[in-house]
Amino acid sequence: MDEFSLIERYFDAPCARGDVRLGIGDDAALLDVPSGRSLAAAIDTLVEGVHFPPDTPPEAIGYKALAVNLSDLAAMAAEPAWATLALTLPRAEPAWLDAFAAGFFRLAERHGVCLVGGDTTRGPLTVTVQAHGFVDATPLRRDGARPGDRILVTGSLGDAGLGLRAARGELQGPEAAVRYCLDRLRYPAPRLAQGRLLHGQASAGIDVSDGLLADLQHLLDAGGVGAELEVDCLPRSPAFCELVKADSDDWFELPLSAGDDFELCVTVPEARIAAVCEAFAREALPLTAIGRIVAEPGLRCRRADGSAWQPRSLGWRHFEGEGG
Ligand code: ADP
Ligand code: MG
Repeated sequence: MDEFSLIERYFDAPCARGDVRLGIGDDAALLDVPSGRSLAAAIDTLVEGVHFPPDTPPEAIGYKALAVNLSDLAAMAAEPAWATLALTLPRAEPAWLDAFAAGFFRLAERHGVCLVGGDTTRGPLTVTVQAHGFVDATPLRRDGARPGDRILVTGSLGDAGLGLRAARGELQGPEAAVRYCLDRLRYPAPRLAQGRLLHGQASAGIDVSDGLLADLQHLLDAGGVGAELEVDCLPRSPAFCELVKADSDDWFELPLSAGDDFELCVTVPEARIAAVCEAFAREALPLTAIGRIVAEPGLRCRRADGSAWQPRSLGWRHFEGEGG
């Protein structure tokens, strides 16, 4: 199988979108952005051994490579449309490619995304996806948080951190709960519907990929503000509660600093809180208030009794501790 038959067989899927004038097969794709809207472009790379363990199922790799990009679009309240895929493979294995493509297209179809191009090369397993979407004049951005705004987070935090331990064989507990966390790690659901509900309501937003503390800090830096976090209020899933002892270090640390949950963390002015919470309740989507924006820069964590609480780790960073 050469490069071109591989592309045709696994990636040249039919595309139902009218805004794709030319998809896979030419030197570039030709795409129509609706008039009056802006193009949102996000790109992320997954490297074997860095972003996923070598024994990760190929279906999960294909799914997650797209999911992490759709999560970035969700955090801008963008409507996803197209994706491109740069795939570097050590070898062309049909079973691997079948499963990889199945995972990728399962998520793409769910959100109406067309794969419109890419690049295929031989080398150490590396998957780069760029996702494109549309935003109107007021996308959700990182830089709008103001003192007094409430800080909220979708879904639950810490599950993917437990999932990583499960993938390493380091997590003991009821099978269903362990499986749930492993699925949260491998098949994160991009919070696109939530991004849409927050559009025009939230003052700022970011997706939680590196851990809540690290990502919230980006949002605070962008807005020139600080935050007070109520660590007892962090949303923990039933599986998390089953697997982690309340009041243990993990109970507090994982939801704050474990990455890969791909929830949205947003700030909402007090006057719009009721409308936002009602909208989420109507759609039966979880949204939890976890703190407040303050004028003084820095991030302070508090327990329910008001006492200060100090996290041990701030989250994941590449090149941490290296010069430059
Ligand atoms: P070129 O050499 O002109 O850059 P390529 O030979 O890399 O083109 O690719 C041929 C066509 O196949 C292009 O339309 C490209 O976008 C598409 N393509 C290549 N690899 C992939 C992939 N992994 N997924 C989707 N489309 C791909
Ligand atoms: Mg060319």
